[in-house]
Amino acid sequence: MSFLPYGRQDILEEDIDAVTQVLRSDLITQGPKVAEFEQGVAGYCGAQFAVAVNSATSALHLACLALDIGPGDEVWTSPNTFVASANCVRLCGADVNFVDIDHLTYNLCATALAAKLARHRQQGSPLPRAVIVVHFAGQSCDMQAIAKLSDEYDFSIIEDASHAIGARYRGVAIGACQYSDITVFSFHPVKIITTAEGGMATTNSEYLSRRMRLLRTHGVHKPVVDCDDEEAEPWVYEQHDLGLNYRMTDIQAALGLSQLGRLDQYIERRHALARRYDKMLSSMNLVTPYQSEFGASSYHLYPILVGQEADGRTCRRELYKHLTGRGIGVNIHYIPVHTQPYYQRLGHLPGDYPVAESYYSRTLSLPLFGVMTDEEQDRVVICLQELLNVQLAA
Ligand SMILES: *Cc1c(COP(=O)(O)O)cnc(C)c1O
Repeated sequence: MSFLPYGRQDILEEDIDAVTQVLRSDLITQGPKVAEFEQGVAGYCGAQFAVAVNSATSALHLACLALDIGPGDEVWTSPNTFVASANCVRLCGADVNFVDIDHLTYNLCATALAAKLARHRQQGSPLPRAVIVVHFAGQSCDMQAIAKLSDEYDFSIIEDASHAIGARYRGVAIGACQYSDITVFSFHPVKIITTAEGGMATTNSEYLSRRMRLLRTHGVHKPVVDCDDEEAEPWVYEQHDLGLNYRMTDIQAALGLSQLGRLDQYIERRHALARRYDKMLSSMNLVTPYQSEFGASSYHLYPILVGQEADGRTCRRELYKHLTGRGIGVNIHYIPVHTQPYYQRLGHLPGDYPVAESYYSRTLSLPLFGVMTDEEQDRVVICLQELLNVQLAA
């Protein structure tokens, strides 16, 4: 039987046509398709501005740079995320600190954030310039609670919504930046829609969008020249800041635009598959993902928690081996970032964020993608049953 990955892109003939059209045109780097894709995503989310870049990692970096995060600053994020959510802070020369996760949603816990902020204020320890929240698996964080804290403690909010395009919070699309300064999306092929590599930042701040645009292209700006001006120097470009080359290509943007048209369809299918998993797994010794009442997840991931013995042992390793051995590409999201050797070198220690670490010891992401069939899903459930039943019998 063929290998079933945990996530997979869906490329149709119409996507290929959109891409080849660009390849046959004069502009294959940043051109009109990038602008169109930006407008498409901004329109979908209800944000005023969108800045397309070559990855979500780049978008996170630009977001931090635009907010003037730098040496001496601290930025807080969730340990239950991909390393890029923390690395963007280090790339600006600032320090990363973490806030433990909620045991139900696996998102940065607003209550733990409130407690840590109060403790740091009382002890005179550094308070964050910004907090990067991660909508884990596509489920929104408790944004109202976090925004309230940002008013009280005066920090900026960046949403790492790499998992969450198409998701909603209290009826509003993620990316609308209702409770944040900037939201970042990823278009890597395992995410909801893809541009191969690619990312986007949305914001309602004209200033932040201008900063990110400038820094996306070396910090270089080309003044508009008056053609009637005899003294004009139309060749002139001016570097105003130290930027990078983080541009998206029109080839990627054409793919993204074409995919964007099917976003709602993918989300709907992911919801149907999640409901099916919920039902089929309900009698097994495992925990299915909790859904908060205020959100509509994009279901980028379907992370289950395997049962735990009294001595703390789990069958996660056996389950991982059993499923991968049968061609089912399960995965683990995430190894807590603070336990990575790089972050341990910076002084973070295993044990610092016990909820994230306990979650990590039990989690397993089952295959889920926008064009997964019922039959493929049945295959996963049958394999899970095989091992869990054997375990019950033993
Ligand atoms: C995938 C991912 C990223 C990085 O996205 P790229 O587009 O691959 O750079 C960042 N944060 C999270 C939470 C992700 O899942």
